[in-house]
Amino acid sequence: MAVDIPFRREVAFEYGKLEPVAPGVRRIVAKNPGPFTFKGTGTYVVGEGEVAVIDPGPELAEHIAALLASLADERVTHILVTHTHRDHSPAAKAVKEATGAPTYGFGPHAGGQRGEAAVEEGGDWDFAPDIVVRDGDEIAGSKWRFEAVHTPGHTSNHLCFALSESGILFSGDHVMGWSTSVIAPPDGDMAAYMRSLEKLLHRDDAVYWPTHGPAIPDPKPFVQAFIAHRRERSEAILARLAAGDQHIPHIVDHVYLGLDPRLKGAAARSVLAHLVELVELGQVESDGAPTLETRYRLRR
Ligand SMILES: [Zn+2]
Repeated sequence: MAVDIPFRREVAFEYGKLEPVAPGVRRIVAKNPGPFTFKGTGTYVVGEGEVAVIDPGPELAEHIAALLASLADERVTHILVTHTHRDHSPAAKAVKEATGAPTYGFGPHAGGQRGEAAVEEGGDWDFAPDIVVRDGDEIAGSKWRFEAVHTPGHTSNHLCFALSESGILFSGDHVMGWSTSVIAPPDGDMAAYMRSLEKLLHRDDAVYWPTHGPAIPDPKPFVQAFIAHRRERSEAILARLAAGDQHIPHIVDHVYLGLDPRLKGAAARSVLAHLVELVELGQVESDGAPTLETRYRLRR
């Protein structure tokens, strides 16, 4: 019995155009569509006159130029970064240079080794926030205020930003409407991701605006579906181990039926993320530290 996630993939926009999406919130979508970015990176602008930019986006000259041109008559006072993937943070440098606004984020990219096989869009190793933000910190502009919500899992430095009084949570890549999030070790951590989903269930945000794709109104059932989906996947992996599979590629072939071949590497890393958690929980054994190549078996 498969969990049904109520995906939302309808999104109306024009590339390169800063458009209002909610009261006091505008978005401009970068033309970097792909299997991990959906239609592209949605850069949000909050406020009017004195504004915050959330996730400036990839190092894409036309996107940066369009964003800056759209804000030519306004002042960027804050640059907020949800996490250090290359589709989110690299443009912070150019936006900072052009506006003088400081960058806000949890910290530099923390996963794996520079030059490791890049999954998703890969880590941005060059970003370091001017202002280090921790869970619960407040970031205030002249007419708006954010609360930072640390949501590790997709990356260890992932933040969501709650826009106070509006009920909006900018959910980055932690919770998206169009797809599940990629959880790829070593920086991706399934146990942390599950805790970060639970964390959102204890909040009362009315609507999520992810960096990719449309908004998620009534987000709690959505978050619950993601939790159920991951639990189900854990069970499916345990079932494959019980059936005799020992290696991640075999498990991927059996568990991800009809998978887009471009997503095979990400699926393998996601299975690895589950196996790392199952090893920690003592339900699974591996020959040495869990990796993509390790042999796994149920612990009896
Ligand atoms: Zn990401």
